[in-house]
Amino acid sequence: MELLKALYNINCKSGREGEIKAFFLQQVADLHLKIEEDEFGNLFLTKGVARKYPCVTAHLDEVHETSPFRIVEEASGIFGEDELGNMTGIGADDKNGLWIIIKLMHDVPVLKVALFVEEEKKGDLAGCRGSKACSLKQFENVLYVLAVDRKGCSEVVINGKGYVKLCDASFPPAHLLQQYEYECVDGGKTDVVELKMRGLSVPCCNISCGYYNAHKSDEYTNILHLRKAYAFVRAWVEYTLETEKLG
Ligand SMILES: [Zn+2]
Repeated sequence: MELLKALYNINCKSGREGEIKAFFLQQVADLHLKIEEDEFGNLFLTKGVARKYPCVTAHLDEVHETSPFRIVEEASGIFGEDELGNMTGIGADDKNGLWIIIKLMHDVPVLKVALFVEEEKKGDLAGCRGSKACSLKQFENVLYVLAVDRKGCSEVVINGKGYVKLCDASFPPAHLLQQYEYECVDGGKTDVVELKMRGLSVPCCNISCGYYNAHKSDEYTNILHLRKAYAFVRAWVEYTLETEKLG
């Protein structure tokens, strides 16, 4: 869990994503990726060469302010605690998504990744500013966009806030939903909802990645649930590579 702890130790309050971007790129530096950064600061990474890519996304920012804390592991839980013993929040929303994507980039041969800045609300500013500003052209060569930015351990969001349809209920492979104990649900706003509102045509969804109490000081991660999310997303991408013969 060293990688996860290193991510939790980087503060990336919206608008200050420089350090976590540099860290992420360092973690995948040996993979010979195509790396693009747009004017707004969003990152687009491509591994391998294919006609169409499975695409995953997470956001680079968090809601928490910089404050000293230590990371505590208890049974399968992991959380932040200040010197008085109060829980602090660790930005598991959405560093759990970043952790999954770093691992995935090493473990699958073909993948496109979109990492958005400024997903979270900041003061009076609405959220999803990075996904609102990016070019949809970035998604012309993808089959779908799987966001890894949902609380819990068992949900695939297929309708976003305001009943923005992200995909049909038949889009997530039924055998994988069953195998990894996930189900289709309605959920809130995140970058893929913004992309769909802007007219992105490919199916999208948002997948639970093991964090709980997001945006609050008692935020924590269940490591078993995070690992299950990784296994689910990896199985989904590998299934795509196999069925589309892209690997
Ligand atoms: Zn999030």
